Amino acid sequence: MSKKGILAIISGFSGAGKGTVVNRLLEKESYAVSISATTRKPRTGEVDGQNYFFRTKDEFEKMIANEQLIEYAEYVGNYYGTPKDYVFKKLDEGFDVILEIEMQGALKVKEKFPETALIFITPPSADELKKRLVGRGTETAEQIEKRMSRAVDECPYMNQYDYIIVNDDLDECVDEIHRLLQSIHNAKENQ
Ligand code: 5GP
Repeated sequence: MSKKGILAIISGFSGAGKGTVVNRLLEKESYAVSISATTRKPRTGEVDGQNYFFRTKDEFEKMIANEQLIEYAEYVGNYYGTPKDYVFKKLDEGFDVILEIEMQGALKVKEKFPETALIFITPPSADELKKRLVGRGTETAEQIEKRMSRAVDECPYMNQYDYIIVNDDLDECVDEIHRLLQSIHNAKENQ
């Protein structure tokens, strides 16, 4: 791979199916995903260094002070941020790097790097969103309410994304994102 990769951000309401979509994209060899740092506690089965770098608040604040993060944001009571080094290394190696991050961070990255592809995925309806959040069984009822309320707060910012994709059918959603990134590569090559 000689050409530089594309930085693509996938955001979406909690429960939209972002994690599944990203895992499916990673089955293709041209993608790399950035692992974020967070102060959130690991869910059952989550592994440090695989799902997230799980850090204390102090450790996270040191990463901010040392400018080790491309962006960071607070989400429902915890910090989340993207470590710099891995992202730039993989882009240089020609991988399309995916950041699965929330909106505040996404918009900060877009401001710094305007060529970033901002992709928002949404479930077909609010009812379906709640069903998926309850169905995965990883949050308490109170946490689900907070995440639903955060989704409502995020709605007005959706139109700042370059692409909005409905995740109704997983295969179609993954194909659409893949085709989209290929078309950005093609457009860059023809410039
Ligand atoms: P969760 O707790 O469900 O793993 O993630 C909560 C939210 O934080 C999701 O919307 C996820 O996309 C976002 N998130 C994960 N990593 C990062 C990051 O590095 N930066 C930002 N800004 N958001 C992140």
